[in-house]
Amino acid sequence: SSPAKPDLADVLPRLNGMMREDDLWGDVAGYIPQLATVDSAQFGIAVVTADGQCHVAGDTTVPFSVQSITKVFTLAIALGRSGDQLWHRVGREPSGRAFNSIVQLEQEQGRPRNPFINAGAIVTTDEVLGNREPREALAEIMRFVREAAGTDDIHINEAVAASETDFGHRNFALAHFLKSYGNLNNAPELTLGTYFHHCAMEMTVQQLAMAGRFLIEAPEVPRLVAPSRIRRLNALMLTCGHYDGSGDFAYRVGLPGKSGVGGGILAIVPGRASIAVWSPGLNRYGNSQKGTEALALLARHMDWSIF
Ligand code: GLU
Repeated sequence: SSPAKPDLADVLPRLNGMMREDDLWGDVAGYIPQLATVDSAQFGIAVVTADGQCHVAGDTTVPFSVQSITKVFTLAIALGRSGDQLWHRVGREPSGRAFNSIVQLEQEQGRPRNPFINAGAIVTTDEVLGNREPREALAEIMRFVREAAGTDDIHINEAVAASETDFGHRNFALAHFLKSYGNLNNAPELTLGTYFHHCAMEMTVQQLAMAGRFLIEAPEVPRLVAPSRIRRLNALMLTCGHYDGSGDFAYRVGLPGKSGVGGGILAIVPGRASIAVWSPGLNRYGNSQKGTEALALLARHMDWSIF
């Protein structure tokens, strides 16, 4: 007889216990005070399967700052608005550099390497903004995320957004640099205002796993994006979703994923599941330390891999 299929209802609580066996949580992001004061010793995980079943374990009721994971949603919206035109403004190659790196932007003459590094996400946000007011673009982004997650209880933390603005010198530099190359249609403060606000969205792991369901590509999940585009979003998550740690993540986890500096990771098992993990301590690439570990263990245990 074949061995029993591993059951998520057993696996996730065990994984949660394992994550708490040592104190190697990593350091929380320090670039804005709001994130620097978060307690690193937290861990939560949620898995939503294609049929809509949700399993959770750990710190699952804490809404955390989703940050760069929102770049997946803004990219989906930008591609919906502009289609392949977007790729004139931003590339599709891994950067091999930190999330906020500026050096390649000069080498590539103002066309960021991919939509998931900050420079690329600022361009994507600028595309979503179009000729509109930031609040209209933000309303569209929130509508998309809430519809994907199946809840209206997802909000932007205004204090985090304000802090990003106060301490966002690097992002202002990137935006002005893009503008100097003619690759920013709006005033830098308008595009960045929109960018800082969508990054400051907060979700629980369960909400995030639900919001990622549209990326599974299965007949049972609500279709927000065409299947061919879902595959491409997943391809970009695999190659670029963890900045200069993308290769390491693909090697260890073997699934498309997008990390955020708040310690969240959204990972997709095509055809099967959407996974959200959160643990605010980061590894040397700026991706969740325990979150990456947990995903590697879960993928191995469930025999989940795209390879
Ligand atoms: N809002 C953050 C920034 O622009 C996002 C970075 C991230 O999550 O990696 O610095």
